[in-house]
Amino acid sequence: MQLKIYNSLAGEKQIFKPILEGNVGMYVCGPTVYSNVHLGNVRTFLSFDFIYRSLTHLGYKVRYVRNITDAGHLTDDGDVNNDRFVKQTRLEKLEPMEIVQKYTVDFHKVLDMFNLLPPSIEPTATGHIVEQIELTQKLIEKGFAYESNGSVYFDVLEYNNRGLNYGELSKRNIEELFANTRDLDGQGEKKNPQDFALWKKASPAHIMRWNSPWGEGFPGWHLECTAMSTKYLGDKFDIHGGGMDLKFPHHECEIAQGKACNDTEPVNYWMHANMLTMNSQRMSKSTGNYILPKQLVSGENDFFEKPFHPTIVRFCFLQAHYRSVLDISNDAMIASEKGFVRLMDAIKILNSITPKDQKESGFNLQDWKTKAYDALNDDFNSPVLIAHLFEAVKFIFALKDEKETISTADLEDLKSTLHAFVFDVLGLQAIEENNNEKLDQTLQVLIELRNQARKSKNFDLSDQIRDKLLAEGIELKDGRDGTSYVLN
Ligand code: AMP
Ligand code: ZN
Repeated sequence: MQLKIYNSLAGEKQIFKPILEGNVGMYVCGPTVYSNVHLGNVRTFLSFDFIYRSLTHLGYKVRYVRNITDAGHLTDDGDVNNDRFVKQTRLEKLEPMEIVQKYTVDFHKVLDMFNLLPPSIEPTATGHIVEQIELTQKLIEKGFAYESNGSVYFDVLEYNNRGLNYGELSKRNIEELFANTRDLDGQGEKKNPQDFALWKKASPAHIMRWNSPWGEGFPGWHLECTAMSTKYLGDKFDIHGGGMDLKFPHHECEIAQGKACNDTEPVNYWMHANMLTMNSQRMSKSTGNYILPKQLVSGENDFFEKPFHPTIVRFCFLQAHYRSVLDISNDAMIASEKGFVRLMDAIKILNSITPKDQKESGFNLQDWKTKAYDALNDDFNSPVLIAHLFEAVKFIFALKDEKETISTADLEDLKSTLHAFVFDVLGLQAIEENNNEKLDQTLQVLIELRNQARKSKNFDLSDQIRDKLLAEGIELKDGRDGTSYVLN
């Protein structure tokens, strides 16, 4: 089966044809690093991590670009006081780049916790100001943009007058858009309310500012993604992804900028990941309906009965298709945990199965593999793929109970296929609790032996135990309640 991808622009699943055979250029809108990422943000990045892993597993060489929005990002063109960085800088009394650093580090830690692979390139908006200024100049030269009072706006009406169609992705009609726009502060600078900022003049209070042909200012959010995607993937590339909420205006504007600048459709396949909800409402910082990953993992929250390991969260997320809404709940997490334990048990059991070649098996390995790959090729259908994995799990338990048999060749094939799906494609990780327990038990024995050595005044031995452990990165600490250890 050929890979099919649901293309939001076409509104249908299409056979995936990369521009350059065997290669994929994929751009995904990254985070705005002005606060901690919540679980909703994680879901979107995890969806694209799964897609990235799947494409790689299917044999494509993927160049995956995911940016960091570390400049500007106005919630609204008209109101410069709505710059999220400026707000957070005031709140935390930090430099803008301190805010950027703090939350970029947090973002990476969180994604690492959920075993997301790093993208091939992670460009920052502040590192691409020159490219954004150049694009703005080009758009002015081509008559698609105009300067007004030190800011530069994209002329949406002009774009449509030239036979192009602003609104094609979000399926919005431009006349309706004009009719529905509120009269916003600063709009007087625009020819039309739907025109969007490419470059914005900085008010005296604005701290993040750069020199430009139009005076000091800062770039528009939509432009940064056009600048970075085209720089690393070309004027036209294969896949552009992001959360569903970015379709309009962000991605609509990216399409307009790309077409106006380079006379080509910028992206062949637009992919949008659906939202994570909690209590049936979209998870969002602004409404307070959110949970931070560390609160879920530590159990410090009022929503879940108990803490959950990040890999269980990952498994739970992947049990919904990336285009479906997923409502997170305690029950869903408990069910995922049960399923995960069974899956890991099956993988362990597989190592102890002795193959027998005589009997015909009721489980057809090749058919099973075909079905699993069909699920992956069908717009990255993770829930169907997982359902197929559980057919194999059932078969493995039957092997254990000696109700089924498997040949030597099939056993090897099943092992490697299951491993690839579980660890490489789904990106799950075995939970190594037992190892930690074993380590703890071993260290308690060593602490006990050291205490006995000290009691019998064999300080030479007791010091040796302490020093040798320290050399291995294990520090013993003698306190009032006895000896404890720290793993460094
Ligand atoms: P932001 O930093 O606000 O630009 O958001 C980063 C990413 O998280 C974007 O792709 C959003 O679409 C996505 N996102 C925000 N809220 C949710 C949610 N509740 N569920 C899934 N994705 C979300
Ligand atoms: Zn973007």
